[in-house]
Amino acid sequence: MNKEVSKKIIVLAGPSGVGKSTLANILLNHSDRFKFSVSATTRPMRLGEQNAKDYYFFSEEEFTKRKDNNEFIEWEEVYKGRYYGTLHSEVSQIIDLGNIAIFDIDVLGALNIKKKYGDQAYIVFIKPESIDALQNRLRNRATDSAEDINMRIARFEKELALEDQFDEILINATGDIQSSKDKIIAIAEKHFL
Ligand code: 5GP
Repeated sequence: MNKEVSKKIIVLAGPSGVGKSTLANILLNHSDRFKFSVSATTRPMRLGEQNAKDYYFFSEEEFTKRKDNNEFIEWEEVYKGRYYGTLHSEVSQIIDLGNIAIFDIDVLGALNIKKKYGDQAYIVFIKPESIDALQNRLRNRATDSAEDINMRIARFEKELALEDQFDEILINATGDIQSSKDKIIAIAEKHFL
């Protein structure tokens, strides 16, 4: 059944370590109409990541070339010297088939998507229960250096000021995955399926 204006994009925005990929996986398992939109980045690949699955890993030169060629819907220098962006080709490949694109992007990127897509996009700000909890999760994940963790926390503190501009705020509390699962599925059912 079609809901309101048919929405094509769900954006999960918020700091890294907050559990956006867990929520994305819940959506992917809930309905095969949800497809993950793979972003491009210039950051180094982490252990266990795969090119074209987690990200398209581009050199800075390649990223700049594509940016100049207008291949991105939006892009941000999320951290100093590290670029991230959403490719037009990736999104049209999903929505042209009537499927729903899941974006895992930063807060500014989410607001840009809302500006471009309006009611066709639903943007969700994913928050930890506290800044301490986020710091602990990033430490336990052990994929980022202490400097990277500090950079991510500092950024999150700034992003919090923009939460009012989101369609919805979802608190993903440590150890309460069932409640987060219920909330994201409720969003999917109400606005997309
Ligand atoms: P990470 O390096 O931890 O994978 O991601 C760092 C941040 O970049 C996360 O907040 C992630 O959501 C964001 N990000 C990933 N892809 C994109 C994108 O295509 N555009 C924007 N604006 N941010 C992105």
